[in-house]
Amino acid sequence: MKIVITGGAGFIGGNLAGALAAQPQITQIRVIDNLSTGHKANLAGLDVDFFEGDIQDAALVDQVIRGADAVVHLAALPSVPRSLRDPLASHHANATGTLQVLDSARRAGGLHVIAASSPSVYGANPHLPKHESLAPAPMSPYAVTKLATEAYLSAYHHSFDLPVLPFRFFNVYGPGQRADHAYAAVIPKWISATLAGQPVTVFGDGTQTRDFTYVGTVCRILIDALLHRIVEPRPVNLAFGTRTSLLDLIPEIQAATGRPARREHRVPRAGDVSHSQADSARLRGLFPEVTPVPIREGVDATVDWFHSAVVKRASN
Ligand code: NAD
Repeated sequence: MKIVITGGAGFIGGNLAGALAAQPQITQIRVIDNLSTGHKANLAGLDVDFFEGDIQDAALVDQVIRGADAVVHLAALPSVPRSLRDPLASHHANATGTLQVLDSARRAGGLHVIAASSPSVYGANPHLPKHESLAPAPMSPYAVTKLATEAYLSAYHHSFDLPVLPFRFFNVYGPGQRADHAYAAVIPKWISATLAGQPVTVFGDGTQTRDFTYVGTVCRILIDALLHRIVEPRPVNLAFGTRTSLLDLIPEIQAATGRPARREHRVPRAGDVSHSQADSARLRGLFPEVTPVPIREGVDATVDWFHSAVVKRASN
């Protein structure tokens, strides 16, 4: 099988490329990435055909997709705060970019397209757990771009019979997720701060909850979906219904790093939701054999990666 990963030089994409490379059924991995938030280092040592460029470039996407069997579409400008600073940039990369990838997949004869959406689409809807049939209520431009992503997948399925699968990834974390940029996610940011002896910044009182999902679990599901060609035009939550508060994360990080974590509270951030927990029935129905990596194990593996990244930097 020949697989295209858009955004393959990113955090999830790099992990997926590594996991796919270990699968005997996968004969070729192609990555298209404009390196806006990703890094070639995430693909170091992997046998991957890398195309540097933008998913809005129709000719390039056509070239990358030609002859492939499936596309895992991860390219996007992630982060709610980033979309508040520059809503149009998020729209172009995430919504227009998705349309371009879908149209290319259609023109290439109907490739299987698996795409990344986000629970931010639930936004202001307070109901918990988040079931996919809840009315979307986006609170940020980023959430709108992900709703558009899902809607385009559904439209291309119904209009052109394109085999699609939109996943709502819930707070993915793990090795390769960097802390050294303004929009870093909470787990890498807090691990990095704790290892450096700095306080962890909590926006609000820290009682907000998230359904953290280890990147290895995400890759396992993406690979199963590719190998078994799972098609579902309705969005599928990719998380297992766990509910970890930010304050609960602190002891996990202390245990994994062996260092004390001091907290520093700041005012809540605009666009952030208070609670996020998936109803995982649809996911478990489609992937009954997948069991998620528990948070303790996932945070341990992430801290190990931070240590190895520091050693690598020191030896360069
Ligand atoms: P990431 O920023 O590490 O990866 C995104 C990749 O897409 C980067 O390598 C970036 O350079 C590339 N990219 C961005 N715009 C592009 C464009 N116009 N053309 C080509 N490449 C482009 O982020 P990630 O955490 O790996 O996220 C992957 C996907 O999953 C994204 O669509 C994101 O919105 C979605 N998602 C992630 C999470 C999470 O917790 N990490 C949660 C929900 C959804």
